[in-house]
Formats: sequence, structure tokens, C-alpha cells
Amino acid sequence: MRHSVSDRLAAFGTTVFTQVSALTIKHNAVNLGQGFPDFDGPAFMKLAVARAMGLNEAGRFDHGTNQYARMAGVPALAQAVARDWHARTGQAVDADSCVTVTSGCTEAFAAAMLGLVNPGDEVVLFEPFYDSYRACVSMAGATPRVVALRPGIGGLSAGFDFDPDELAAAFTKRTRAVVLNTPHNPTGKVFTRDELARIADLCVRNNVVAITDEVYEHLVYDADRPHLHLANFDGMAERTLTLSSLGKSFSCTGWKVGWAIGPERLSAGVRAAHQFLTFATCTPMQVAASAAVGTPDGLSAISELKALLRSNRDMLEQSLRDLGFATAPASGAYFLMADWTGSECLGGRLHGVGSDIDVCRSMIEHAGVAAIPSSAFYQRPEEGRRFVRFAFCKKPGTLDEAVSRLRAWAR
Ligand code: GLN
Repeated sequence: MRHSVSDRLAAFGTTVFTQVSALTIKHNAVNLGQGFPDFDGPAFMKLAVARAMGLNEAGRFDHGTNQYARMAGVPALAQAVARDWHARTGQAVDADSCVTVTSGCTEAFAAAMLGLVNPGDEVVLFEPFYDSYRACVSMAGATPRVVALRPGIGGLSAGFDFDPDELAAAFTKRTRAVVLNTPHNPTGKVFTRDELARIADLCVRNNVVAITDEVYEHLVYDADRPHLHLANFDGMAERTLTLSSLGKSFSCTGWKVGWAIGPERLSAGVRAAHQFLTFATCTPMQVAASAAVGTPDGLSAISELKALLRSNRDMLEQSLRDLGFATAPASGAYFLMADWTGSECLGGRLHGVGSDIDVCRSMIEHAGVAAIPSSAFYQRPEEGRRFVRFAFCKKPGTLDEAVSRLRAWAR
């Protein structure tokens, strides 16, 4: 057929999130699949959107900010992002030339690939990876070079590691960029200082750009695993494009406000693509975002959220272990990676089940609980078959319900 999905995208099919969410709705399952909170973000932000649209004190609408925003972002938000970045990294950046607001981090990532990577270039990705990375590398006509994150010598309970030699070998003459996601989706890993120093060193030595996805930067739960910015390592400020967003930090994933921070040269690449992808991002959402990023209200909302998610993580981790899953420590982000292959897992209900996809299908259909089959995050799906990913960015009552359904099924 000539009139169908293009060659560069046909291989990627429909995203796993769309597929699992559809099954979840069909079976009325508790959704620990797609990573989004089942509660709203702070009320002050919702009010700020309404005000930006023109809501006045009398409950009526005046003229608001409802037309296209500046291509690179509403100045107040770009300035808030630049100030917050300065406060957290010590790096002063010019809001006008070094911050670009995009429609979520997903657009920022696509724009970075399309605007900075040439056909034939290579891009280093850590596997497992968020599914859009590989599709965007392909849209840019580039080739992914995959480096495995695997349970190390200590087993899954010691977390996911990479082999430094494998990473070094992934850099070739064609490498244009390395993609780093920390805190990491789907493993919950927060990269350590030593690991980041190694990545930075390879970038500098091979003259490679780093594109970092730091959307979970505020959501870290263990004092010994703080979030560190790759841009803060020696020689990296001039070669790192740091991507982040509003959605995860403020529980408003549907607002789709993200940004890219980086030197003028790299920001120019992002803008070259962004101006033709979406041109500009939703104006009232940007205005409201500027009331949250780095402000006292915003910071207190983040610390409340962190406390909730830490306690959710602890509860879900313990419950999954009690149910026979092995889990990796989730020091950050929204997710727990769980190995379902133990013989006692879910009371033996999974005996004879062949893959993570079948496990997720069975859990949705029989237990009424949805998780994501992790092979979707792998270029080599067999590497991910042992794992399913559970999201804990939910109300405690939602997690309780999911756990009691799993217990009832396992009995
Ligand atoms: N980031 C979310 C997750 O990993 C999903 C976003 C999406 O559905 N594309 O679950």
C-alpha cells in the first residue's frame, strides 16, 4: 500500500501506553500502567491558568493571553526556568537565547533530534529507554547505538548498571549525541556521580553532545542518591542540552509544557525544528507555569509530592516483594521495575506464561491491575521480557486497591 505509515515509523506501531490504557479501560482495571497521577496538581496553578485566560475577580472573562505565544516561549516562563536553573546549578543562562519552551519534553526531545542530528549520525541510548527516543532517532534518519543497563553483580536488588567498556565502545566517529535520562524511566535508577563523570569524559573526549531528559529531576527519594545534572560536570555546560518539563513535578502531565536549556548553538537547533513542529506552546499554560517554576508555592508543592511518592514507593515495593516479585530500587521517578519470573510470583499464577506481554494481559484480565510490559523499552525485546513496570504516581487508595486485587488473585 502506498498510502500508509511511512517507512521510518511503520516499525514502531502504536505506543505501548495507548495499547495498555485501552485494555485497562476495557477491563476496568486499576491503572498502574501509563505514568500519570490520578490526582490534580496544585490549585494555585489551575487558578493561574484561568486568570491567564482572562478570568477576573467577578468570575467573568476579560481579555486574556489566548493567542500564539512567542516561538521560543512566554518570556516570564523562560525567565523563571533560567532563574531556577541558575539557583540549582550555579550556571547563569540567558533566558532569551538559551531556554526554549516546547509542548512537553517529548516535543523538546523530537526537536533536539531533528534540529541537531544529521542523517547517518549515531546516537547513543541506554537501554531500556523511554519509547519515543528510538522513534525520534529514526525520524532524524540517525542510527541508535544501544548500551545496556542491567542488574549488576548484586542482582536486581542492587539496581541497574552499565558496563563502562560497553559504553566507551558505543562511541564511534559517527557519534553525534548521547541521550541520558536520569532519574530513569522505566528503572527508577538515579545515575551516580561516578557514572555521570564517565559519561561526561566520553562526551568531551569524543566531542559529542549530551541530550538529557530530566523530567523526574525533583522526584528523588533517597538521600544517598541525589539528582545530579550532567551539565554541571567538567566541560559539559557547553555541550549539554537539558530537557525537562512541568508535568511530573507538578502533577499536570496533560498540560504538555516542557523546555530545553542549553548554550545558544544547541538551542538554535531545537528552535530550528520547534518553529515548524508546533511553532509555539499553549500560552495560558505557559503563563501559569511561570507561577510554579522555582517559586515558593511551586517548591512547597514539589516537597509535598515527593513525600507522597516516597511513601507510595515504599508501600508498593514491599507489597510487590510480598507477592513474589523481585524489584529494583526506585531511587527516583514514578516507577518500579519488577521481575515476575520467580516461581512463587503471584501464587504461581504465572506458571507457563511466556512473556511480559502475556503477564500484563493476564494481570489486567484476571486481577484487574494494569502494568507496562517492559520489553517495549528495549531495542532487543528479549532483554526486557523478565520485567513489568508498575507506576506508583497514584493516590494511596489506588495502590491499596491494586495490591488487594493482586493478593486476591494470587490466593
Ligand atoms: N511518560 C509516561 C510513561 O512512561 C507515558 C507518556 C505517554 O503515554 N506517551 O508512562
